[in-house]
Amino acid sequence: MDTNQNKKGGISVDTEHIFPIIKKWLYSEKDIFLRELVSNATDAVTKLKRLAALGEIRDIEDDFRITVTLDKNARTLTISDNGIGMTEDELRRYICQIALSGALDFIQKYEGEGDSNKNGIIGHFGLGFYSAFMVSDSVEIFTRSYTNAPAVHWVCDEAGEYEIFPCDREGRGTDVVLHIAESEEEYLSAYRVREMLNKYCAFMPVDLYFVDVDEESTPHTHDENCTCEDCSAPKAPTPINDTTPLWQKMPADCTEEEYKAFYHKVFGDYRDPLFHIHINADYPLNFKGILYFPRINHEYDSLEGQVKLYYNQVFVADNIKEVIPEYLLMLKGVLDCPELPLNVSRSYLQTNSYVAKVSAHIVKKVADKLNALYNTEREKYESLWDDIRTFIEYACMRDRKFYDRVKSALLLHLTDDSYLTIEDYLADCKDKHENTIYYAADKTTQAQYISMFAAQGLKVALFDRMIDVQFIQTLEQNMSGVKFVRIDADVAQALRSDEKAEANPALEAMFREVSGNAELTVKFEHLKEARVPAMLNISEESRRMEEMMRLYAMSGGKDAMSFPQDMTLIVNASAPLIRRLSALATDENAADAARRMAKQIYMLAVLAQRQLRADELQSFLEDSFDLLESL
Ligand code: ADP
Repeated sequence: MDTNQNKKGGISVDTEHIFPIIKKWLYSEKDIFLRELVSNATDAVTKLKRLAALGEIRDIEDDFRITVTLDKNARTLTISDNGIGMTEDELRRYICQIALSGALDFIQKYEGEGDSNKNGIIGHFGLGFYSAFMVSDSVEIFTRSYTNAPAVHWVCDEAGEYEIFPCDREGRGTDVVLHIAESEEEYLSAYRVREMLNKYCAFMPVDLYFVDVDEESTPHTHDENCTCEDCSAPKAPTPINDTTPLWQKMPADCTEEEYKAFYHKVFGDYRDPLFHIHINADYPLNFKGILYFPRINHEYDSLEGQVKLYYNQVFVADNIKEVIPEYLLMLKGVLDCPELPLNVSRSYLQTNSYVAKVSAHIVKKVADKLNALYNTEREKYESLWDDIRTFIEYACMRDRKFYDRVKSALLLHLTDDSYLTIEDYLADCKDKHENTIYYAADKTTQAQYISMFAAQGLKVALFDRMIDVQFIQTLEQNMSGVKFVRIDADVAQALRSDEKAEANPALEAMFREVSGNAELTVKFEHLKEARVPAMLNISEESRRMEEMMRLYAMSGGKDAMSFPQDMTLIVNASAPLIRRLSALATDENAADAARRMAKQIYMLAVLAQRQLRADELQSFLEDSFDLLESL
């Protein structure tokens, strides 16, 4: 080598000793060096394409590609492209002077020429290239500019000392050779490199190939008739990436099958998604994405969503809650925001007004989609409701604006398995129980109440999920005047007949006594349902309070069971059994029979309201056996 032509130098930076700082602190996640370098290679190709489009260069073949080559023996990882390349002068400016971005020069030169690629280059300034030093002892660059200026070879050690030589690279483009450090052995594993490429580069816009030199040079031991995969005729290598991901297409050009296939591939979920939202936001937001509502089996499955953020088809990170509201992270999807820099810091995102607008736009699109489904495909919407309601209820609880957008499309799942919007329910029940929504929390244990309501034509909503307790409170806060009442909390007016029942202090005392609850309120009413002798009500407030206390106890608070319940036994004066009981109670000789009867009636009311405790069940069974024996 002609040493006279060698030029030595030190990376020129304002701050001294910046090199070790880069190595240690620049990126918390080392893996991203590969993303940065492949991304630079992509930019180099994009720039070249742009020059060709502008007519600055002619006659270039359209075989743009990036190759990542692993050579374990040589301990190198090489990223090669056939993009724009660099002249020596450019190399000095763009690589040797950290923080002076080549992108800036490029933009200034071609500004105002109105090309959509421009946006792809803006915002991508930084120190990306130097992330190579996080895993390397030394780094080499072999590059030849498209202008055909002489090719150059740059070598830089881990202290930032570099040398530049001439070299004989033939074609246009750049090879970046990383000499992997001893301590970073893992990056010499083909499995590991492939994994990183799949994570970050699966949708890069330029064909990307991975070559494992070891694999290629493995001696072939099979005979000539061998039909195994390795032995079949050499196939043209296939790129590991998809350069035209679905989100970049116009929604009108995508089929339902394509949306599903993309979902299965990207999220590894074998189930079909319920539906999707393809967002294509123009200027000034300028971002694209597809969000899927995943199918969920259980209430809690839904919490495992995943929204991937991309920058010009380069993966940035999962679940960035500054860009998409945390409650929508239960969805699965991809978002591509070329307006955000590739290396985003949380604090930057939190204070960025663009990010806030993107987030608001996504919320609006999700709400629009739900309303559109409700308005135009009501049947389908109803069939999906139980799958999507957890998302929607949670989103409404977290964001009043979202609630306001979707409130007309919020459905109640009724106990007869039909659906009504909250607005329609309130309109329907106006004459019978204005502004009150009756609900059941369990179809089985509350079956008797449900059937009493159904017999009078009253509609009951089913709120049987954990989240519903809080969702009900959100609804009450948002819809002033409307209250939710569980069907075992009070006797709806429509269940009573007009007849007024007289008080019966003796029987009231007897019921209180057999219940073992001195606080029990006992009330006589004429119910339309004559067969039911008595029913138990627990006021909505006291039950909610108890539920809260129980949650509190579950989360480590103190014992909640001592909270007194505001309980009322409604005794049905219209029931023949109660009339018989009244008669027995006045007969001195039948005092014991009356007491046993009252106890059994009370226990049946408890049984219709909740499960019995062990001791209650035991004595109920014994009383029942005795009763049967006396028949
Ligand atoms: P950034 O890409 O954010 O500008 P980098 O440190 O990654 O910062 O790169 C600095 C500059 O070096 C790039 O802007 C580009 O001009 C040049 N460069 C890096 N890699 C390549 C490459 N493979 N081909 C051509 N130029 C490159």
